[in-house]
Amino acid sequence: MPELPEVTTTVNGLNKVLKNLTIKDVWSDYFLRTKNKRKDTIKNKKYFEKFRKEISGEKFKNAERRGKNILIHLTDGKTILVHMKMTGHLLYGKYSWNGKKWQSYEPLLKDSFNQFIHLIFTLSNGEHLAFSDMRKFAKVVLFETKYREKLIDLAGLGPEPLQNLSLETFTKQLHKKPDGKIKTVLMDQSIIAGIGNIYSDEILWEAGIHPERKPKTLKKDEIMKMWKATKKILNNSIKMGGDSMSDYRNIYGEKGNYQNAHKVYRRTNEKCLKKSCDGIIIRKIIGGRSGHFCNTHQK
Ligand SMILES: [Zn+2]
Repeated sequence: MPELPEVTTTVNGLNKVLKNLTIKDVWSDYFLRTKNKRKDTIKNKKYFEKFRKEISGEKFKNAERRGKNILIHLTDGKTILVHMKMTGHLLYGKYSWNGKKWQSYEPLLKDSFNQFIHLIFTLSNGEHLAFSDMRKFAKVVLFETKYREKLIDLAGLGPEPLQNLSLETFTKQLHKKPDGKIKTVLMDQSIIAGIGNIYSDEILWEAGIHPERKPKTLKKDEIMKMWKATKKILNNSIKMGGDSMSDYRNIYGEKGNYQNAHKVYRRTNEKCLKKSCDGIIIRKIIGGRSGHFCNTHQK
């Protein structure tokens, strides 16, 4: 699932290409292809029809990230929220409808992971903003920007780790779940926003903390190491264009590179890469997710 660095990469891309473009039309087949037809998302036909009517003719202002959500602000005071969930990603380029599906002739957009188009915006410059989502778990809704604090998807989110998050606030947030497992706590969006399975593994490896430690047992210097590792790892991944070990692609359909920098995630049975550590990486289910760690230097 795209996490903070991948969502940031997408948002930075959107801000480069969408400014001042108008939405000419919107197409989706989510409501034909998903069973979950919740009334408050575009997976519902009526909702989609209203969505289409309300945003057609509107102009893009800018895009923003909050947690793992993409917020696309329009000039009429409305905002489109996109949560990419497991396999969703936005793509920018020229597409045409061949009578069966949306096709692009640009080589990168022909990558198989970019072929699952379930939502597409036709833009005023003749290009398209397409949304590829193999497993169709993504969430897309429209809301009035001024009510963002009330929106359920945003209201309960914890602080942003890269926006002046102090050590004090980081510590206070972790202590909200004193008896949780630290990996699960780091992934809890109400504690810190934007961290998921990959980055929680990498942060804990870097900080030398066992993923099953309880926050109440963490010493000050251990929390400090985690706080520093959080900023370092998320920033490094953004610099590398995010992680494409799974489906993630940037708006041009290109892979990021962070999968080549993993120290621990999906390195099960390989030698620990920490200097002077002779541990082996093990995999264990923690809070329903696969955790990867070195049980020699992660204590
Ligand atoms: Zn190790």
